[in-house]
Amino acid sequence: MFFGSRDPYRKLKKRIGHHKVLDQQDDLVTYAVDASYTAPPGNHDPNVVIMAETPEDVQEAVRFARTSGMKIVPRGAGTGMSAGSVPIGGGMVICTEKMKLIREVNTTGRWIQCEMGLTTAEVKDAVARHRFLYPPDPSSFKISSIGGNIAENAGGLRCVKYGTTKEYVLGLRYVNAFGELISTGVLAGDEANPLDLTPLLVGSEGLFGIIVEARLAVVPEPKATRTVIAHYPDPQQAIAAIQSILPELLPSVVEFMDDAVIDAIRQHDPYPFPEGTMASLIVETDGPTDNADAEMNRVLEILDQYGALELHTAANAAERERLWQLRRLVSPGLSRIASGKMNEDVVVPLGSQGELLRRVREISERTGIVIPVYGHAGDGNLHLNSMYDKDDMKQERIAHDAIVECFKAVVELGGTISGEHGIGAAKNRYMRIQYDAPELELFLRLKQAFDPDGLFNPYKLFPPDLTVLHEA
Ligand SMILES: Cc1cc2nc3c(=O)[nH]c(=O)nc-3n(C[C@H](O)[C@H](O)[C@H](O)COP(=O)(O)OP(=O)(O)OC[C@H]3O[C@@H](n4cnc5c(N)ncnc54)[C@H](O)[C@@H]3O)c2cc1C
Repeated sequence: MFFGSRDPYRKLKKRIGHHKVLDQQDDLVTYAVDASYTAPPGNHDPNVVIMAETPEDVQEAVRFARTSGMKIVPRGAGTGMSAGSVPIGGGMVICTEKMKLIREVNTTGRWIQCEMGLTTAEVKDAVARHRFLYPPDPSSFKISSIGGNIAENAGGLRCVKYGTTKEYVLGLRYVNAFGELISTGVLAGDEANPLDLTPLLVGSEGLFGIIVEARLAVVPEPKATRTVIAHYPDPQQAIAAIQSILPELLPSVVEFMDDAVIDAIRQHDPYPFPEGTMASLIVETDGPTDNADAEMNRVLEILDQYGALELHTAANAAERERLWQLRRLVSPGLSRIASGKMNEDVVVPLGSQGELLRRVREISERTGIVIPVYGHAGDGNLHLNSMYDKDDMKQERIAHDAIVECFKAVVELGGTISGEHGIGAAKNRYMRIQYDAPELELFLRLKQAFDPDGLFNPYKLFPPDLTVLHEA
């Protein structure tokens, strides 16, 4: 590709600064993985990594890649769970991590406008100083970038009341496949623009362009938060309680954990789960103090009606933090009960969660694969973890087949195979379980409209046989 040049990146380095262009092997390997460690087999070291500091750096890098015939992989903090920022087969990684400008926090208009390298926590902190809340809260909020959140339409604990990232993106700026800076939504200057491209960019997984700036809506900080943990002898009772709460109340959090998850927590934490606990729920209410209290009182009545073994309400912030500690132990706890874990973030309609649990339990018993279930049950988003021994290839195959059966059950129940982690290179081979050929063709036409030469994020989202069609 670069015959006849001693340093193929010399011109780019001169334009944007040498320190922003990483081309030494020791630096590159870090960018060959994300937090999912699920990329297809092969070497995915990038050829070069651009640590962009300004939108102009991104524009220069895109133009350079285009003229050099290199593919481009946008990257935030690399906490993705679907290999979305892994440069499959190499190419140029453009990392927005260092772009941390906060352009404005506007308290009257209730928004923040910022660059994409800020962590979710930094965005939350910036508006909390003005008593506002930026509600989307992926569990990775301390480390994930806001750009990655937008590109994946990140969800989290509070989605049940506040919705996912897409609800908060009022407009954005992105660098397109020709290195041009394009504004959308309110940043395009016309708040009533009927042809707002913003919703197409949110959740586009880095396939349409590189987002460099966004205006994000915020809400007034709730005055009070109330928290309870409820333990049940049967997961179906816990699910029935959720289904009774949601039509009547608007809790800010409804988290579910089944018995396998509780067993994993028990190995790390002495919290006294009552004897016979087979599922637990953490429920929160928030808002003005009176409302948070009134809603919590009604939540407690309903949780009790459905046969809770015990209800434990947090009396203060320290006790609340203690309960959340249990939830945070889930992921590390599960990682210790088996060397391999396929962590899938499916969603089913709210009325179907009990049936999904039954089907997952049946698949688990028939295949012998442990499949712990937990997650943001209040908005239908459940994490199914297919556990296996990495040194046992036969078990790995069975664990994989079990998860495919789970996906089919999810789609039969009217759900989706990814609620928040995205498809990336980890789930693209399963897209046909959910989407028909005309739908996939429509996605492909959208991709071609944004990126006619297939520059951005190849080998992602589309099933492998369709991938060749969006290659240049
Ligand atoms: C412990 C843990 C807990 C998690 N919990 C949650 C959770 O509760 N909810 C949830 O939704 N996710 C969760 N995640 C997944 C992950 O943190 C989110 O998907 C997050 O939004 C990714 O952000 P990132 O900056 O790390 O993106 P990356 O991993 O760097 O990239 C993710 C995707 O976004 C694209 N991208 C990144 N930046 C840009 C940009 N500026 N412009 C265009 N495309 C871009 C990449 O190409 C890639 O396709 C969790 C991950 C971990 C490790």
